[in-house]
Amino acid sequence: MRPANEISASAAPIETDAIIVGAGPCGLFQVFELGLLGIKADVVDSLQHPGGQCTELYPDKPIYDIPALPVCGAQELIDRLLQQIKPFEPRFHLGQEVAELTRRDDGRFFVRTALDTTFLARTVVIAAGLGSFQPKKLAVEGADLLEGRQLHYRVRDAARFHGQRLVIFGGGDSALDWVLDFCGKAASLVHVHRRTEFRAAPASVARMRELVAAGRMQYVEGTAATLRIGEGGRLEGVEVKRADGTMAGFDADHVLAFFGLHPKLGPIAEWGLDLEKKAIRVDTAKFQTTVPGIFAIGDINHYPGKKKLILSGFHEAALAAFAIAEHLNPAKKVHLQYTTTSPIMQKRLGVAG
Ligand SMILES: Cc1cc2nc3c(=O)[nH]c(=O)nc-3n(C[C@H](O)[C@H](O)[C@H](O)COP(=O)(O)OP(=O)(O)OC[C@H]3O[C@@H](n4cnc5c(N)ncnc54)[C@H](O)[C@@H]3O)c2cc1C
Repeated sequence: MRPANEISASAAPIETDAIIVGAGPCGLFQVFELGLLGIKADVVDSLQHPGGQCTELYPDKPIYDIPALPVCGAQELIDRLLQQIKPFEPRFHLGQEVAELTRRDDGRFFVRTALDTTFLARTVVIAAGLGSFQPKKLAVEGADLLEGRQLHYRVRDAARFHGQRLVIFGGGDSALDWVLDFCGKAASLVHVHRRTEFRAAPASVARMRELVAAGRMQYVEGTAATLRIGEGGRLEGVEVKRADGTMAGFDADHVLAFFGLHPKLGPIAEWGLDLEKKAIRVDTAKFQTTVPGIFAIGDINHYPGKKKLILSGFHEAALAAFAIAEHLNPAKKVHLQYTTTSPIMQKRLGVAG
C-alpha cells in the first residue's frame, strides 16, 4: 500500500522538525509517538513502499509477539501502523535512499537523498533496520559493466524494453509480473528460473506456462552461465545452463534480473556516528547517538541488552520522542500524558469529542 500523502522530489530543501530515515515498523511508530507530542515528521525510505522487513521479507507470515494482538500478519501490522499514524499526516518520500547527512553550524541537519531531495531537519531519527534494501546481483562475469545499460535489476521505464529481445531471470512476483507484462510487447522473451518451485503467485506462473504453450515466449529452468559480449562491450546474448546440465544460448538486447532484495548498511556507515557491529551506538534514556539531535531506534541501534524485536523498537520510539521534544524546545518541560485522558492528545488524534 502506498500512502496517499507521498511527496515527490523537490528543488528547495524541505524544512522539518524531524526526519525519519526508514519506514519500517519502528520508523512508522516513531511518527505516532512524535505526533502525540505535536511534532510532524518527514519519512524517507529507499523502498517504494513503507513496511521495511515486514513487507519486503515476510509479508504473509504471522507475528505472535505484538502486545495485545495474539496473531498479526506482517503486512497487516504495517497496514495497521499506517492507519494509526494517519491523523499525524507524515510526509513520505519513497524510493530514495538517504545518501548524505551532515550537521550544519546552526545545529540543523542537511539531508540529501539519492533522488536529490534535500532537507533541513532540526532532528533526525535513524530507523534504518538492517540497512537499505539493495537488489541481489547476477553473479556472472561482466555483469557489473552492463548494469544500468543492458542489465537491469528494476524497471524504471517499461517502454524502453518494448520491441527489444529480453531475457528475464527470477521466480518471484516481480519477475513473473514483468514476464507477463512484456510478453507480446518485447521482440522476443525468454524467462529463466533456477528451480521448479516459484515464489510468485500460482496464477501468474500458470499464465506464464500458458503463454509458453501458445508459443508466445520461452521458459527455461536453469541459471545464467555467461553473458555474450560483442563489439564496444555491448551485450549480444546470454548462455544459460539448464537444470539437466546442457547449455542453451539466447540473443538478447537486455537482461532483467529479479532475485529479490537484501539489506545493506550503505551510506549510514559514513555519517560519522559511533558504530558497533554495523549498528549505531545509542544511550538508553533518549536513544540518542553520539551526535546530539540524531537518534537511532529499531534494529539499527545497539546498546547493552539490545534485542532486535519490533516491540523493543516501539519502546525506543516512545522515549526518543520525548527526547526530541526536549531537543526542539529545551526551555519547555514535556509532561507525560495519557491518550485516554489528555484533551490535547485526543485533539491531535482527531478523536476529541
Ligand atoms: C523472517 C522474519 C521474521 C521476523 N519475525 C519477527 C517476529 O515475530 N517478531 C518481532 O518482533 N520481530 C520479527 N522480525 C524482526 C523484525 O522484522 C525487525 O525487528 C523489524 O522489522 C525492525 O524494524 P525497523 O523499523 O527497525 O527496521 P526495518 O524493518 O529493517 O526497516 C528499515 C527501513 O529503513 C530503510 N532504510 C535503510 N537505510 C536507508 C537509507 N539510507 N535511506 C532510506 N531508507 C533506508 C530500509 O529500506 C527499510 O525499509 C522478523 C524478521 C524476519 C526477517
